[in-house]
Amino acid sequence: ALDARFVVGWLTRAAESVDREADRLTELDSAIGDADHGSNLRRGFAAVRDTLERDRTDTPGAALMLAGRQLVSTVGGASGPLYGTLLRRTGKTLGDARSVTVGQLADALRAGVDAVAQLGGAAEGDKTMLDALYPALGALAAAAEKPTGEAFTAARTAAEEGALATVPLRARKGRASYLGERSEGHQDPGATSSALLVAALAETAE
Ligand code: ADP
Ligand code: MG
Ligand code: MG
Repeated sequence: ALDARFVVGWLTRAAESVDREADRLTELDSAIGDADHGSNLRRGFAAVRDTLERDRTDTPGAALMLAGRQLVSTVGGASGPLYGTLLRRTGKTLGDARSVTVGQLADALRAGVDAVAQLGGAAEGDKTMLDALYPALGALAAAAEKPTGEAFTAARTAAEEGALATVPLRARKGRASYLGERSEGHQDPGATSSALLVAALAETAE
């Protein structure tokens, strides 16, 4: 069952992975942005990890909402409010259940990703984090009846493929869109960090 411990484990792993990959994320953002994506997320997820360690949460929903609030308040860039919205809306949608199924988490994540799309006015194909998140959701929903590890691994593969597939795209949202056609040929930093978050989910389920 996916309980509060599972979510705290996921976000703690995500913090480790973001910390390890921060330089790569910043390098990607230096090509088509302002070279701060890695440091933004490193700061944000370190704060999330500390908060979850300090304040005990009893439900997956509460843990996600707490983490999301922390991201919004510690990350100044576009990605803070967007990832914060993802986690808060997902948590709110889960309500106060003490444990949830993969299918319930997939449905809540869809509400979270839709909220990100609405907040940022972006759609799939605009070369943003959504290009990793929507494929991951599709794969997770399709595999929800399979064993948990298998379902999350399918989501991870789809997220990683989605991030790679942003390379040829022209950015239509966020800072990278200011570059117009010069944004083509580079992998989107936010899609890359989203794939790290989904990979951390899969590792937690193993
Ligand atoms: P900033 O651009 O403010 O410096 P970051 O560098 O932390 O913020 O994050 C940049 C990432 O945020 C992009 O690579 C992209 O994936 C994502 N992003 C930016 N704008 C949007 C948007 N409107 N909708 C969805 N994702 C976005
Ligand atoms: Mg940036
Ligand atoms: Mg910035």
